Amino acid sequence: MKLVIIITVVVLLFSVLFCCLPFMNGIGMNAIVFAKKSVEQLEEEYVLRRKKMVKSQIAARGVKDKEVLEAMETVPRHLFVPEELRGFSYRDEPFSIGLGQTISQPYIVALMTEMLELNSDDIVLEIGTGSGYQAAVLATIVQKVYTIEIIEELGIQATERLKRLGYSNVDVKIADGSLGWPDKSPFDAIIVTAAAEKIPSALIHQLKRGGRLVIPVDNAYLGQDLLIVEKDDEGETDIKKTIPVRFVPLVKEKDGVK
Ligand code: SAH
Repeated sequence: MKLVIIITVVVLLFSVLFCCLPFMNGIGMNAIVFAKKSVEQLEEEYVLRRKKMVKSQIAARGVKDKEVLEAMETVPRHLFVPEELRGFSYRDEPFSIGLGQTISQPYIVALMTEMLELNSDDIVLEIGTGSGYQAAVLATIVQKVYTIEIIEELGIQATERLKRLGYSNVDVKIADGSLGWPDKSPFDAIIVTAAAEKIPSALIHQLKRGGRLVIPVDNAYLGQDLLIVEKDDEGETDIKKTIPVRFVPLVKEKDGVK
């Protein structure tokens, strides 16, 4: 009987000790480090996925610009989508991330960025902030990014996200991007990540001489073409049609989006 009592007491003592372990100095730290390690492991997994994404989806399709490839490998795409969709974020496709908004396919982000022929001291305007992902890719390469989003909630979310992730060279404005950002113009490059019916004249006007505008524009076949508009040193523009694309439409303020 005595032995049974002793064993019960010992077992109880060990149970109490075991329960208290996480709260004890040193040993408790081990538990925290363990939890943190699994987050780090997850991050390592995302680094590998990005490397694979760049190799198999982007470089394999002909994107060569070193800065663009590096930026695509650096920007944590999974942190620009809702938590429950992170697992899908490195797939070779665009997808909807709520509020009628789409995050573009990684290849299209890289291709459009390459088409801008950016330099490190460039000032770039983006229309269609969305998640802020494209803006972060641009911000990794250039000096300053101005980006405009028409849906207030998205604009606020993207502002907070970009700030939290340390992209301090991005300014977000909530407005109709078709009008551009006159007081910050002219821009070395302009990128529009929603499809326009026609190229907004304000954007051509706000493009620097020698600058480039990349924009998806509706074509006569119910699709869209990705256009490159180049402004030469005399201010003349030349429009080049590249590939067919699919973007959400560029909406006007009077459509009641805001
Ligand atoms: N570049 C984004 C994806 C763009 S999706 C990213 O990297 O996540 C297109 C975005 O354009 C949507 O968020 C949509 O709300 C926005 N948009 C549509 N019309 C607009 C307009 N007139 N001005 C500014 N943003 C607009």
